[in-house]
Amino acid sequence: IIRFSNVSKRFGTLTVLQDFDFTVAPGEKVSLIGPSGSGKTTVLRILMTLEPFQDGTLELGGIGYHEPGGHGPFKASERHLRQIRTQVGMVFQSFNLFPHMTVLRNVVEAPIAVLGLKREEAECRALDLLGMVGMADKKDHFPSQLSGGQQQRVAIARALAMRPRVLLFDEPTSALDPQLVGEVLGVIRSLASEHDLTMLLVTHEMRFAREVSDRVCFFDKGRIVEQGEPERIFSNPEQARTREFLQSVL
Ligand code: ATP
Repeated sequence: IIRFSNVSKRFGTLTVLQDFDFTVAPGEKVSLIGPSGSGKTTVLRILMTLEPFQDGTLELGGIGYHEPGGHGPFKASERHLRQIRTQVGMVFQSFNLFPHMTVLRNVVEAPIAVLGLKREEAECRALDLLGMVGMADKKDHFPSQLSGGQQQRVAIARALAMRPRVLLFDEPTSALDPQLVGEVLGVIRSLASEHDLTMLLVTHEMRFAREVSDRVCFFDKGRIVEQGEPERIFSNPEQARTREFLQSVL
């Protein structure tokens, strides 16, 4: 469902991804781990079309685009980008809820505006999703009245309301107080049991990555140094860089 072929990404003179190849199968749950600054978030931002790239091709759900000239912004038409965006949902480190909207409105606005759902239908679905993340009773609260963990659970419901085929998580628990991490991981864990949903998770929670992923990719300096089943990566990494990294974080 996701294919990066030879993608390069630079910020000015800094090369973040070089000839990057990466594929994810439909329904697969993949964790990206690795040192800070290695390019993991950039991969998610490119997928979300929040970040242009320079060389190579990206395919998402059968829609491909590329930058044939090498430099400058990618050549995807607005229509392309809209199609891609409707397939991908993202949950950010910092929740990013709309502060002036209630929980319920946060979840229903995009389905109404983008998917064209009627308000009643959107609210009905939103309440189901809020129930699933344990937040239905807070539907009339504003984000500032919620804990970080509660805000993140609403953000997950909001992402799901767009019925994405691919859900991206960018360090979803790193801005949370330790006692709130568990509730958010619990929600993600239950989503991981949905067979059709493809999940890509950037995380520093190694135990969690091990538990929910079909595949773990270790990133270093814009490359995937090593990838495989979590059991193997965590218990028997082949590469010295992976071993060093895991020793430093576990
Ligand atoms: P972390 O775990 O700290 O989030 P990461 O592996 O996700 O790290 P990225 O956020 O993808 O790493 O960043 C990769 C590199 O690109 C870093 O060196 C970062 O400083 C740089 N970078 C990211 N965004 C920008 C930007 N908008 N402008 C310039 N440099 C950027």
